[in-house]
Amino acid sequence: MMKLVKYIVLSVAILAMTIGMISSLRESAFVRETRVFDAEKFKEMKYTGHELALFCDVAFMSEDTRIRKWRKDIKVEIKNIDKLDRKTIAEVDSVIALLAPLIAPLKMERVYSGGNLHVYRKVKDITPTRTKHLPHSVCINGMTTIGARASYSWAIDSASIYDCRHADPQTLLHEFQHALGLAHPVRLYPYYVTIGRSVIPQYLRSQKETQAYMKQPFYLSEEEKSVIKMLYSPEVRSGLHIETFMEKMGFSEEEKSWLIPEVSKRRAVVIYPSPSRH
Ligand SMILES: [Zn+2]
Repeated sequence: MMKLVKYIVLSVAILAMTIGMISSLRESAFVRETRVFDAEKFKEMKYTGHELALFCDVAFMSEDTRIRKWRKDIKVEIKNIDKLDRKTIAEVDSVIALLAPLIAPLKMERVYSGGNLHVYRKVKDITPTRTKHLPHSVCINGMTTIGARASYSWAIDSASIYDCRHADPQTLLHEFQHALGLAHPVRLYPYYVTIGRSVIPQYLRSQKETQAYMKQPFYLSEEEKSVIKMLYSPEVRSGLHIETFMEKMGFSEEEKSWLIPEVSKRRAVVIYPSPSRH
């Protein structure tokens, strides 16, 4: 009898060790994959210094250190479509039309069923508690939740976007940016940043920018467009760590301290004054 117990205990121990070894091998394989980054190819994108700074600030969304992004085509499904008017539905299509070219070669399109990015428009109120186990960004007028990741994978598999009944349509564009893997910036920028915490109102700093903003129903600065393209370039893998990125880009300590945002400040809410044109 004792022999049998010993045998069982030994077998369980060996099994546990084997499972442990396999999972740690699996983990190191995933982490190794995130370290694959071709800096030279990435630099061929020809972004400006400002765009690189914004990229480092908002693109490393996962725990403020790693890239999270989609690796498969995005299918946008408006879940409460029956309750919405045509204009409200068309606004979703406008946001897709603006963002889809920036995430190529991935595709983003609207579907009527089987979507992986769910949109709930004009909801009465935002209740973050129902999704407390998922990573989410609660904004002033909207919320985005990103599907729970598979172990050791930082790819985004699914997301849900909510915008409030009283929210400006620009909030929708802001929430879509979260769903693509962007975080609120830590720093202030001398131009309008849609992923900025306050969204609207926010100062538009130049006459040219004000005109560009007013001409378009949804406004995204050239800098933010570049940042989304940088995030979705094939060189950048989901899970890429900000330190690995800095190291492979060959940045000096001084450049690193300038580019890596002080994440402790990310929690601070920035309230911008209203632009005078409103
Ligand atoms: Zn937000």
